[in-house]
Order: sequence, then C-alpha cells, then structure tokens
Amino acid sequence: MSLKNIILFLVACFCCTYTYNYCISDDNVNSRPMVMPEQDAKKSTEQLPCISDGQTNPIKKVYLKKEGDKYFFCVDFVENISFTPRMYLLPNGAKIILSFNEAVSAPKTKRINHSVIKGYFFEKFGESSLMFVFALKENVIFTEKLYTQNSIKIGFRVNKRKVIAIDAGHGGKDPGTKSAGGDYEKNITLVMAIELREALLKSGRYKVILTRDNDSFIPIEERKKKIDLAETDLLISLHTDSNNDRKIRGISVYTLPNLDHLTNPIEPYNTKEDADNYYKILSKSRRFSNALVGHIPNICKISNRPCRNVELKILKVNLPAVLIELGCVTNRKDNTLLHSKAFRDKTNRAILYALDDFFKKEENK
Ligand SMILES: [Zn+2]
Repeated sequence: MSLKNIILFLVACFCCTYTYNYCISDDNVNSRPMVMPEQDAKKSTEQLPCISDGQTNPIKKVYLKKEGDKYFFCVDFVENISFTPRMYLLPNGAKIILSFNEAVSAPKTKRINHSVIKGYFFEKFGESSLMFVFALKENVIFTEKLYTQNSIKIGFRVNKRKVIAIDAGHGGKDPGTKSAGGDYEKNITLVMAIELREALLKSGRYKVILTRDNDSFIPIEERKKKIDLAETDLLISLHTDSNNDRKIRGISVYTLPNLDHLTNPIEPYNTKEDADNYYKILSKSRRFSNALVGHIPNICKISNRPCRNVELKILKVNLPAVLIELGCVTNRKDNTLLHSKAFRDKTNRAILYALDDFFKKEENK
C-alpha cells in the first residue's frame, strides 16, 4: 500500500466508526441480479471522468455518472463474473469488498480531479478478492445500490450543508450585561459562539459563519449584511439575561412577535404576500425554538416561559432566526454555569440536536 492509500484507508476506517455507518452484506449476486430502474428520459446524463478503463480482469471500467442531481459510482466487470460484495456505506464515501470465484488483479486507476471525489483506490486481498474505497468531498445521502452480473452502481446525492449564522451579542464598546463576578456579556457570548461553531463544524452537517469572532463592536445592520451574504439558512443570536430579582434564572428563546405586535414594522411587510412570507418564516423560527427548548437538558433549568416573542432588530432578517438568552448573569447558579465548559458543551449539543431535528422535519415537509 502506498502512503496515500494507507491514509485513505485510515480515513475510511475512521469513518466506519461514525454513527451513520452500516454494512450491507449480500449473497452471491450472480444468482439473483437486481433489476435496474428505468431511466428518467428527462434527466440529463453527464459522463464524468473515468477512474479506470484498464480492462484488467475482472474490472472493465470504473467511473462516475451524473443524472439530474444524482451521482452514480459505477464499476463494470469484464464479463459475467460471480462475485460476492460486502459494502460499507460511510457518510462521505464507501468501502466495497468484492470476493470472486477466480484469481483477479487490481486495476490501475487514473488520477482525476473532480468537485465531488476526494480519493479512491483498489487493493488486492489474496488471489481472488478486491477492496475498493472511495471518499467524497461532501456529506452525501446514498439513494440506492444496484448489482447486476456485470456491474455495480451506487447512487447518491450531495447533502448540501446548511449555513448557520451565530451572532455573539454585543462586543467592543457595547459590553452588555455585567455578571456578579464582573464579567461582561460580550465575553460570555463570544466564547459560546466560538465553541458552538466548533460543535456544529465537528458534526460535518453545517457550515457556520460568525457575525463577530473578536471583541469588536459591529452594528446590527453590518451583522445582518454578513448573514445575508453567506446565504444563511438559520440565525442564532446569543445573549445573557439580567434581572433585578436575583432568583430569576434559566434559558429563554426569543422569536419575533406576530406582525400586529410590531411597533416598528419592517419594510416592506406591506402587502399580503409580504405578510404571508413573514408568517412563513416566523413559524419556522418558532418550530426551531420549540425543538431547542425540547433538547435543553435539565441542568440548564429552562425559565418559566422559555419561548417568548420580542421585537429585536437582529431577528428582523428574512430567514428563521432565534435569540437565546443563555441564562441570567444576576443569578449565582446561572452565572456559575455560564462559566462552566460542561454546561456550555451541553447547551451546544442541545442546539445541534435541535438543528438536526428542525432541518430533518423541514426536508420531509
Ligand atoms: Zn444582550
């Protein structure tokens, strides 16, 4: 194995431990070839660069094909050959072990540069088995696997990662609330925003933009421009609360109120179409808010009215948006929690799970 192959193999092995991994083990497919689905004539078919056409026994050709928005990874065999495949689907690739009834050789592959493929290799096992691993640049959804006597096709779609904007409240000359220990809200929200970004990126399911990543003052309108430019799918603004009553504590999630409760209507919400759009986005924001409250662990002590409506400038964006008050800095317990990495990790996990729930349901609508 070359160094590159070893690295790819290690990547594949690592991916195997991912929770989405599962193994499909099929019996000898020669005895029961599967019927290929009829091609949709309207779909455009694009033949992408060929990975191998070495005519090596038993592999005739390895290539990627595109039909509409769907890709097919295809392996064609030289002739009808009896083989037993074991396929491991990974979030961003697949590992296929092919066992044959006769001696085989590993095909030579070409190096290709494609927007979807990260890497691939064949490896021979003993006289009659081959391992084929391919890794993709994006997270994908596998749609089908088709075996016939002389081919294998693995269908998948690129799972476009959602863009989440994380807005660390306040910053620079605007410190926000002050905790009993003398720490400012702007620092707590910045730490939380950076840690939340890490948690979302680590999942591999989201792209993240921060409206600020240092202690600078950024006006709301400038933050909103950044959010717009990034084609954001959802906005999470992070803040901490304070209250004269030091017993008051807990997490609250805010969304905008109904249109008739806005004191300062947003332009251009004048027509019925605009109003419909406002409510469409508002109900999405509220669905996410409910999902989030459902995932907040007990340790975080949700306030009595966790989902609230308030007219906040940062929420006036044309996309689902929530503002999370992470706790009350005037409450001793909340203040201790906000300075605890364990608490922040739990809250970040709750936000991640809520995002997963929210987008899954949106896609199934
Ligand atoms: Zn604030």
